[in-house]
Amino acid sequence: MASNESKEEGKRRPLNFIEQIVEEDLKNNRNNGRVHTRFPPEPNGFLHIGHAKSICLNFGIAEDYGGKTNLRFDDTNPLKEEQKYIDSIKEDVHWLGFDWEDREYYASDYFEQLYEFAVKLIKQGNAYVCELTPEEVKNTRGTPTEPGKESPYRDRPIEENLDLFRRMREGEFEEGSCQLRAKIDMSSPNMQMRDPILYRIRHIAHPRTGDKWCIYPMYDFAHGQSDYIEGITHSLCTLEFENHRPLYDWFLDKIAEGDYRPKQIEFARLNLSFTVMSKRKLLELVNEGYVDGWDDPRMPTISGIRRRGYTPGSIREFSEKVGIAKRDNVIDVALLENSLREDLNKTAQRVMTVLDPVKVVITNYPEDQEEELDAVNNPEDENMGMRKVPFSREIYIERDDFREDPPKKFFRLAPGREVRLRYAYYITCQGVVKDEFGEITEIRCTYDPETKGGQSPDGRKVKGTLHWVSSKHALPVEVRQYDRLFMDESPDKIKEEGKDFKSNLNPDSLHIIENAMAEPFLKDAKPEDKFQFERKGYFCVDRYCKPQEKLIFNRAVTLKDTWAKIAKQQQQGKKK
Ligand code: ATP
Ligand code: MG
Repeated sequence: MASNESKEEGKRRPLNFIEQIVEEDLKNNRNNGRVHTRFPPEPNGFLHIGHAKSICLNFGIAEDYGGKTNLRFDDTNPLKEEQKYIDSIKEDVHWLGFDWEDREYYASDYFEQLYEFAVKLIKQGNAYVCELTPEEVKNTRGTPTEPGKESPYRDRPIEENLDLFRRMREGEFEEGSCQLRAKIDMSSPNMQMRDPILYRIRHIAHPRTGDKWCIYPMYDFAHGQSDYIEGITHSLCTLEFENHRPLYDWFLDKIAEGDYRPKQIEFARLNLSFTVMSKRKLLELVNEGYVDGWDDPRMPTISGIRRRGYTPGSIREFSEKVGIAKRDNVIDVALLENSLREDLNKTAQRVMTVLDPVKVVITNYPEDQEEELDAVNNPEDENMGMRKVPFSREIYIERDDFREDPPKKFFRLAPGREVRLRYAYYITCQGVVKDEFGEITEIRCTYDPETKGGQSPDGRKVKGTLHWVSSKHALPVEVRQYDRLFMDESPDKIKEEGKDFKSNLNPDSLHIIENAMAEPFLKDAKPEDKFQFERKGYFCVDRYCKPQEKLIFNRAVTLKDTWAKIAKQQQQGKKK
């Protein structure tokens, strides 16, 4: 049951404008105080983070006000729609944590009813069959400042319209030879109201209705009507439909019986910096092989960021944080990344993994000795406890944690210098071994047995703390370091002659490390498990990793916003 109390108090923020409208409607007992929303994807691609925003909004409003949400496939265009998209959409909505229960609907299930609505309009004298070509219809629409031209078929008798419309349905006419149009006002200042097309002929089979139909309703004659059939109360859509709203209401006034009316409310779509979001462009990236499918971890699709390591909670939190706007805007993608960082900081198991290993031999540590040291699983959550990390005479550290000739402010390992090995001991570098090309193959160190656990009893301080992995216990893993897919903040706005968004792809958006060395704790990791590799970032076991095969880790996000640093450096560079 819908409750009439305001939800403002339970929120960490003031009500957004949609919540205000809903509360006002509840107060006035509009539509008997019901709240019923829908999420209406067109199954012509995978869902992206913008859709996630819409899903959180629609399901969120219903949850807050004791209502329901339908999943409705807006499948009125048989040309581009496929079953694999329907399957992926259902999977993604569930994964985000929302449930449409048994309310999985398809606009195509309403084709018969929509046809009847169209017949009703014809009988009212509100629709006619027009034999202008689609081209001619377009050319006679006028412009925002000039009225359109009335079609010569506009005043056809009702009986003739009914007969022609029936014969359109029966397949007597060729594509483009005629269409059903609403009879509204060719001089309306709103172009949408200038006798819009309701039905067009398409001699193609539909994935769900097969060959049953050869006329298909346009979006404007399907969406509001489907809302009406389903008993939707608040039909939330993006701003580009704002000027369709008078048409939405016009149709409903003509076909509805009784007082019940769905209400269309528009909000600004989510745009992200460094990201393209249109399904058409994402499809281009997939089809032309710029990425490895719709769920490539660099894609802004829900399945892509899921594979990358995003959690449903971080996406819902992000969606809540960006809020609902009435004006188009661009959200910094760093905000999305930060939502994940905050989430994983609280929940992710810490481990040590060396991505670019170089061997360290601890010369005063006995050859056949090994021991297990205590390590903290998550300093943010003591309930996650401790684990044992094996230590021995030979370990790996990161190659760039050592410099033979350290620059100023380099506080890591260098000849003669002492550093701490995390959870282990202090070590001091005594020398290096190189191969014939001058490359360091081994760093030789001594350790201080008195510093077990990484603390010195005499209070001696060291500046650097390094992560490491015992070489004989190390688990080789593959690590895929992902970065942003585009280099420019607004890849959609590339203006150069003959170039488009694809000219802005980041050539370094994927860097594969085939043999990183992980601590053995990771051997039991399962697909989609998430970890913090200390000092390196958050990583997620690839969803498609098979048991017994080498583990693949996708980098979800770095520990800090490295792009902010780059932007700052660029700014400082400009100032100089
Ligand atoms: P795109 O233009 O990205 O291809 P679309 O609007 O054509 O997307 P639909 O499948 O028609 O995709 O969208 C389903 C629902 O998701 C609609 O209600 C739409 O308004 C909403 N939606 C789509 N993109 C966004 C976005 N970027 N931000 C918020 N809502 C969105
Ligand atoms: Mg669409």
